[in-house]
Amino acid sequence: MAQKSAAERKVEPKSVQRLKYSFSRILTGSDLSSRRLALMEAKSIHPGPMVWLTGCVHGDEVGGMVVIQEIFRRLRKRPLLKGSLSAFPLMNPIGFETASRHIGVSKEDLNRSFPGNLAGSVAERIAHKIFSSIVQTQPALVLDLHNDWIKSIPYALVDPNPGPKRQEVFQTVKRFAGQTGFLVIHERESDVKVEELKRTLTGSLLEQGVPALSLELGEAYVVNEMNVTRGVNAAWKILVELGMAAPAEETPPYQLPVEFGDKLLWYSHQPRSSSSGVIRFMAKPGDLVKQGQPIARIYNVFGKLQETLLAPRAAIVLGHADTSLALPGLPVMAFGIPEP
Ligand SMILES: [Zn+2]
Repeated sequence: MAQKSAAERKVEPKSVQRLKYSFSRILTGSDLSSRRLALMEAKSIHPGPMVWLTGCVHGDEVGGMVVIQEIFRRLRKRPLLKGSLSAFPLMNPIGFETASRHIGVSKEDLNRSFPGNLAGSVAERIAHKIFSSIVQTQPALVLDLHNDWIKSIPYALVDPNPGPKRQEVFQTVKRFAGQTGFLVIHERESDVKVEELKRTLTGSLLEQGVPALSLELGEAYVVNEMNVTRGVNAAWKILVELGMAAPAEETPPYQLPVEFGDKLLWYSHQPRSSSSGVIRFMAKPGDLVKQGQPIARIYNVFGKLQETLLAPRAAIVLGHADTSLALPGLPVMAFGIPEP
């Protein structure tokens, strides 16, 4: 084994940072096995901001867990300069073990169960444990890691504006989102699901005045190594901005689509399909589409064209549906649409 240089010895992780991996109990299974929430903690000896990384709130979205593992692997070599980083890498172990978004038996979406309830449903009890653990640390930021459709590009997702009382925290979230280097996509306040979005982890943290945002890092189900690297780089950049980590070289560097890189983009599922049949996609994730450009065609079982879907505005394609099944009202594609 090669001798360590003096400089290397000086940054020995354990001397400047404490790493701790542990569990907290969430419930007891029918076979009396204990279901637990894994917790990873890195704490510098120098005081500073507190940041949380959270992954796998949807059990099939496995990429975030690996991003967190890679960040902590990097911390062993390059310890935090100050502050603390904590992570719940697997918030939904029940869903993960059945490769399912939801919590099996109760069919609940854990990410629509926040801030949770100690005496509530299965999901609400788990959500309560996660939410209260995070909030009591008064974090500077919570970064929730998700995966999207199989065919999708990475982006930072900002929750709807939480209203006049929370403008300061909302501006902070938008600043952090910009620092990820990804496209920043805003959920629309006018969206009919806005009440539902307040029950997400990030939405409920914002309501509480805690800065939080989501990263959507490509496909669910399978770990996409390229998107893991991109996710690690994005999270690391924020740690650098907070003075918690030294800059790291990005390989390969992520290139924003230039046309929309600096514009405010809204998330949109329009146009949805209005007919039934099989979808032939005509644009792919990352494509820039023009207003009126055909983006998908829907054919019936005999191959007769039912409908051609057109881009309602110039937009960037974030992803397309996981199946080519069309039914009236089903989403076909997701777009980032520039603000008029
Ligand atoms: Zn998700």
